[in-house]
Amino acid sequence: MEQHDMALSYDDIDNFVTNAASNLELRSVTLHLTQPTLVSHEPQDVETGNSQVEQALTRLAGAIARLTKLRAFSLYVPPDNSGHHFDISQTALASLVESLPQSCVSLEIDTAGLDHATGFGAPVHLCETLRAVLPRMRHARLSLRTMCSSLFGTGAALPQNNAASYHPIALPNMQTLLVNCRRAWGTAPICAGAADAASAPGTPAPDSWDSVTHGLQALATEPGRVAPDAKLCVLTSTPQDNSDKSRYITLIRADLARRTSHAFPVAFVSRGPTAWLMRTGGGREVISSDTAALVAAAEGETGWATTTTTTGDELRLPVPVAAEWGLETTGLPLDEVSVWRAANPRKMHLLWYNEQVSGERLLDGEVRDGDGYLSREPLVERTPAGWQRPDALQRAQLEPL
Ligand SMILES: [Zn+2]
Repeated sequence: MEQHDMALSYDDIDNFVTNAASNLELRSVTLHLTQPTLVSHEPQDVETGNSQVEQALTRLAGAIARLTKLRAFSLYVPPDNSGHHFDISQTALASLVESLPQSCVSLEIDTAGLDHATGFGAPVHLCETLRAVLPRMRHARLSLRTMCSSLFGTGAALPQNNAASYHPIALPNMQTLLVNCRRAWGTAPICAGAADAASAPGTPAPDSWDSVTHGLQALATEPGRVAPDAKLCVLTSTPQDNSDKSRYITLIRADLARRTSHAFPVAFVSRGPTAWLMRTGGGREVISSDTAALVAAAEGETGWATTTTTTGDELRLPVPVAAEWGLETTGLPLDEVSVWRAANPRKMHLLWYNEQVSGERLLDGEVRDGDGYLSREPLVERTPAGWQRPDALQRAQLEPL
């Protein structure tokens, strides 16, 4: 039977390129990109590994260009698999994006922040490369080392630099777009060129969230640039505040078309077994050993899902496309908090303790709208009447007044 969907690892690339002629019917390709096994961690062997990946990706681009029935492509670096000084060539990534056939209308590029400039000459600006293909896309999910408003238009990279001079493109086909600006518990930087043009004295250094939301908001605001029901989302995280633990790591997903954000508080619970909690709103709380699963849950329906084929290939596809193709998606590794706590009765988090002693729910996910919907204020655990948070305990634990 002809195979319609294929997952590749780095080691599969050369075989795939050699047999390109027998794969012309493919409708989706997922590349799970990890660092090849290194001879040693000596700089020269690391560099050799990185340049082997660059050359393999360039060869892959040639083979991808021939897949005229390709509808979805994903290049995905697993977040827990960043390797040892693993640098993914931006030049090679650009040639892959440029090689995608016109038929390809779903695109994921998630480098886990490992893309880098290589070689001599003018560096590639991946935002501009992507801008050329986004207008035909129906579903896109992007996460690069740096990002900026050049993804969605030309001109001023930030609102304070004269928003009127930003000219958005149109995304007439887009149904779900997710730009993940999160880097660890923080935000990826803005692209170097955009930062130069943008630096305003006396203001905090702008990052990718500032610039990407600026561009996407301009695009969403101008009439006729997107379908009315398009979901155009940007996600990031606020950092941990070690001096005030009532302020939580907060994952924020803004929908620029609806001018609404969802904010989800996240906290580390336990090292053995590894556990993180996240409150998703409406009183629901989940636990996972895998922070990537919490991020995927925060991305919601704009995220991409994993589906396993009968041949065991793990594909990454937009959720609606997997459904349209009749492929079952793998659920995220999330536990309901009640189930997890029943299985781990000795584990306690101060949030649970505080709620137990005060008898009140003190924290939940939040929907933000109105003019401040792009706020990156972290979610704060409430201090109920009759209680205080001593600074000596990093404001983590409630004590009676
Ligand atoms: Zn950029």
